[in-house]
Amino acid sequence: MKQLRLDKYLSDMNVETRSRLKQMIRKGQVTVNGEAATRPEMKVVPGSDRICVLGNPVGYRELEYYLLHKPAGVVSATEDRRDRTVLDLLPDIRRDDLFPVGRLDKDTEGLLLITNDGSLAHKLLSPKHHVEKVYYAEIDGPVTEEDQKRFKEGIDIGDPTNTLPAGLDILSSGETSRVRVTLTEGRYHQIKRMFEASGKRVVYLKRLSMGPLALDENLRKGEWRSLTPEEIQLIT
Ligand code: URA
Repeated sequence: MKQLRLDKYLSDMNVETRSRLKQMIRKGQVTVNGEAATRPEMKVVPGSDRICVLGNPVGYRELEYYLLHKPAGVVSATEDRRDRTVLDLLPDIRRDDLFPVGRLDKDTEGLLLITNDGSLAHKLLSPKHHVEKVYYAEIDGPVTEEDQKRFKEGIDIGDPTNTLPAGLDILSSGETSRVRVTLTEGRYHQIKRMFEASGKRVVYLKRLSMGPLALDENLRKGEWRSLTPEEIQLIT
């Protein structure tokens, strides 16, 4: 069974900062199976050893799931030399194994799932699983039934293969058109390139949902929350 350093176990569970935890352990404020621990580097087994801090039990959650309302201006990466990343928006979460599920462009807003569950990420992103990602987009100029037909048939966007059939609902068409796009894959700049292939430009893009998981409209841009147990059940 997987072993973890005691201070990492507690830091993963957001109890305190690693340096503060080291102090607390040295002061005997942390017990492992009823005995005061003395070494932060002591190995413990999540789910088996009973860890208490100041007498309060601290259970271990292996997998974590957060829903972020991504604002424009941050990149969907775990680290970046130049830009703020989506993980910088969750500063209170200390786990170091979280990552965003799929990339939204820097200027795209909306639903982004942050987790450390690699197999879920694969399931949600792999085109084989046909998980629908729904976006709201604003397009410079009119959008027509011809565009709808092209989206449905698949478009040559310069990749080795055409895009898979995609949904295009026209909410309004005019000087700036409002549309809803449904994809089952996620290629680089896909929606922008699909419109570009018809000489059209996306001026605003927001992801509304990913499979059964929808953006929580109570979350303002940049805000996040943990997924509810029901949401976790729906997607895993
Ligand atoms: N398509 C794009 O062009 N950009 C995104 O961020 C997501 C889908």
